[in-house]
Amino acid sequence: MPTSRDRTGPTFKAVTMPQLAGLLARAGLDPADQLRARAVATVLPFRTNSYVVDELIDWDAAPDDPIYRLVFPQPDMLPAADVNRIARLLSAGAAPGELQAAAHAVRMRLNPHPGEQLSLNTPRLNGEPVHGMQHKYPETVLFFPQQGQTCHAYCTYCFRWPQFVGEPDLRMASSDADTLRVYLLAHPEVTSVLITGGDPLIMSSAVLARYVEPLLDVPHLESIRIGTKALSYWPHRVLTDPDADDLLRLFERVGSSGRTLAFMAHYSHPRELEPESARRAVDRIRGTGAVIRAQAPLIRGINDRAEDWAVLWRRLVAQGAVPYYLFVERDTGPQDYFAVPLARAHEIFRDAYAQVSGLARTVRGPIMSATPGKVQVDGVAEVGGQQAFVLHYVQARDPDLVGRPFFAAYDPSARWLTELKPLPGAGPLPGVD
Ligand SMILES: *Cc1c(COP(=O)(O)O)cnc(C)c1O
Ligand code: SF4
Repeated sequence: MPTSRDRTGPTFKAVTMPQLAGLLARAGLDPADQLRARAVATVLPFRTNSYVVDELIDWDAAPDDPIYRLVFPQPDMLPAADVNRIARLLSAGAAPGELQAAAHAVRMRLNPHPGEQLSLNTPRLNGEPVHGMQHKYPETVLFFPQQGQTCHAYCTYCFRWPQFVGEPDLRMASSDADTLRVYLLAHPEVTSVLITGGDPLIMSSAVLARYVEPLLDVPHLESIRIGTKALSYWPHRVLTDPDADDLLRLFERVGSSGRTLAFMAHYSHPRELEPESARRAVDRIRGTGAVIRAQAPLIRGINDRAEDWAVLWRRLVAQGAVPYYLFVERDTGPQDYFAVPLARAHEIFRDAYAQVSGLARTVRGPIMSATPGKVQVDGVAEVGGQQAFVLHYVQARDPDLVGRPFFAAYDPSARWLTELKPLPGAGPLPGVD
């Protein structure tokens, strides 16, 4: 088999703030909107790359193109008063310190850590909190390697944005591979480790291997997951990057240790599977025996059409990947701009689900990853003469809640678990105070 050393491919070129103004003009924004979009990019991080710009975005359709909207700041995605204040500072040539202070104030109003991630889910080892890990559900530990706290491009809707903006108190990351192993050995209930970020595939294969290899003799560990959007944002990571083959060999070693390497791929839109390189990247990963499972949130203006999801799931199945979760946009950052109400999200999910074969119906959604657990909206029904949401926990901090249907009062505008009210006569919402 030809190795990546025999081939040449493009070199990763990040596209960041210095190139932003020119690309906003290319998208056809008028000068006032260009300024507002730049103001947004001082609050929420902007980063993309030459592959996304040249191969994924349809510039003729910008600024409405879904992939453009996936990575470029939108002039109206934050509250107008905030955007206008920062835009005035930008056009007045304000000092960097003043600009950063204004951006910081806006960030603090954006609910940077929804789901109380920092306080509730930080595990302890010998009584000390372990940073860079979350242990929320008994079976699965999340690990945030320090070198993986960025991505090949940033999604405008990302709930991990506090990790990218250099606000020290908002970050969580670990450099300690050994602590992870020691923690796992002390917790036989953990069968799965999910390495996440940012994007772990930003790391070199050698650094990733330093985290993965010590796990391969933890007896009760069944799977190692890598949460990544590299197949969408930089498929050359597994094709022609200098250490692409080392990554594939690492995946093979996980498989030969008797464990599954689950490649948790973030796919937002069927366009991401169109470039030939994107499809070859899927084939190469599958060739290692790793399983690709695909997930993404449902985002207004990016992927809020049932047709897009149906096409995405079909393309994934055709490539041998497994549709996994369709998420609801979280209650953080620009949620007001991107959220789709739960009732509408369920309609979109159902319409898409109805169009695909059983092989794609492995997907579950719409799912809210909320403080007490992952809640799926099963639909709307009439219960005792009242309109109600039917829901259940797919995952819960309290395993007793998993898999039991419950009801909430129907509300066509509710967007999150915390906005739901109990259905009169049906008891409180489980897991919610
Ligand atoms: C989603 C999630 C997991 C993994 O849940 P699965 O249902 O096993 O995919 C683990 N920990 C946290 C905090 C999560 O949000
Ligand atoms: S790839 Fe994932 S972590 Fe990175 S910006 Fe997008 S959603 Fe956030």
